[in-house]
Parts: sequence; C-alpha cells; structure tokens
Amino acid sequence: MNLILLGAPGCGKGTQGELLAARTGIVRVSTGDLLRDAVGKGAPLGQRAKSYMDQGLLVPDDVIIGLLREVLGSPAAARGVIMDGFPRTIAQAEAVDALLTERGGAVDAVLLFDVPDDELRRRILVRASQMGRTDDNVEALQQRLTVYREQTQPLVDFYRGRGILVTIHAVGSIPEIAERVRTGLGA
Ligand code: ADP
Repeated sequence: MNLILLGAPGCGKGTQGELLAARTGIVRVSTGDLLRDAVGKGAPLGQRAKSYMDQGLLVPDDVIIGLLREVLGSPAAARGVIMDGFPRTIAQAEAVDALLTERGGAVDAVLLFDVPDDELRRRILVRASQMGRTDDNVEALQQRLTVYREQTQPLVDFYRGRGILVTIHAVGSIPEIAERVRTGLGA
C-alpha cells in the first residue's frame, strides 16, 4: 500500500501520518524530516537544502528526486510507504510514479488534508510563536503557504483525475481526524 499525504503547511498531516503508520505498520517517510536530519548532520544534502528550507522555498527537484530514489528503493519501503511531504511538484509526482512502477507498485491513495485558510493562518501564528524550527517564523511560513498554492496544489487535480484522491476534513480533534482517515481509506 503506497499512500500520499497532501496538504498545506499546518494541515496536521505529520501527526496523522504517524498515527496511521503506527496503526497499519506501513513506514512513514517525511522528506522534511530527512532534510532536517541531513542539515543537522552537516551532510552534503543538508548543505544544499538549508537555505531553501529557511526561506520557505522548495528544495530543487533534482535534489529531492535523488533522495526519493534512495528512500523508495530501500528495503524498508518494500511493503509500501506513507509519503509525508512529497511529492510536492508535478515533476516529483512523475518521479514517484516511475520509481514505484519499477518495483511493480503504484500510488494507491492520496489523502488531502483540507483546512480552511483562516484556520491555517491561525495555526501558523501559533507555530511561529513556539519556534521549534528555524523555518517556523511568520515570513517563512507565509512563504511556504504561497509555495504550496503555486507548486503543490496542482497535484490535487492530478490525483483527482485518477480517481484516487480522498479528501479529509482536517479540523477537529486529533482522534476525530484519525477516525476520518480510517473511514476515508475504508480500513
Ligand atoms: P511543512 O509541511 O510544514 O511545510 P516539511 O517538514 O514537509 O514542512 O518541509 C519543510 C521544508 O523542507 C520545506 O519548506 C522545503 O523547503 C523542504 N522540503 C520538504 N520536502 C520537500 C519536497 N518534497 N520538495 C522540496 N522541498 C521539500
């Protein structure tokens, strides 16, 4: 089972992705976590990614696609993967398709975490005030929202056209939303 979690920054897909991974035993892969880890270690990948991340911009597709080749080809992903934070562009989506096809797999479902704009803005301000991450300041978060609209939102139609998009109303308590995810996946 290969699942994609899609949604704007602050939509809660990371939290739900972890719960879903715990419940199903499918590994969750987050490109954001992998990139932050590489930055922390001072790895070459991190050195290339850091300035983009701090500005709220996407790390270039060629860097990400190399990373995807590694993670989707790893033995841990052989039983399927919950993709959190990727694909984020049409080029990345095409790379995911190609990499899964090589392994005889496909994207089975895409969960779109739907949160109204005013709620996203509210969550962004809360997150910025907590400042756990160097890219969680108001400017970078606003930039990430703009980047999401321009570069990632087109994926909604891309997957809807294939009939595999499942929209989750993602306002409510964590357990409520987890239940909607379970129902949405029919499992
Ligand atoms: P959020 O979902 O809150 O925006 P992430 O942890 O998914 O945060 O990503 C943080 C940053 O890492 C992004 O703003 C971007 O710079 C970079 N990043 C993560 N995943 C990708 C990706 N698939 N393509 C390009 N950049 C990415």
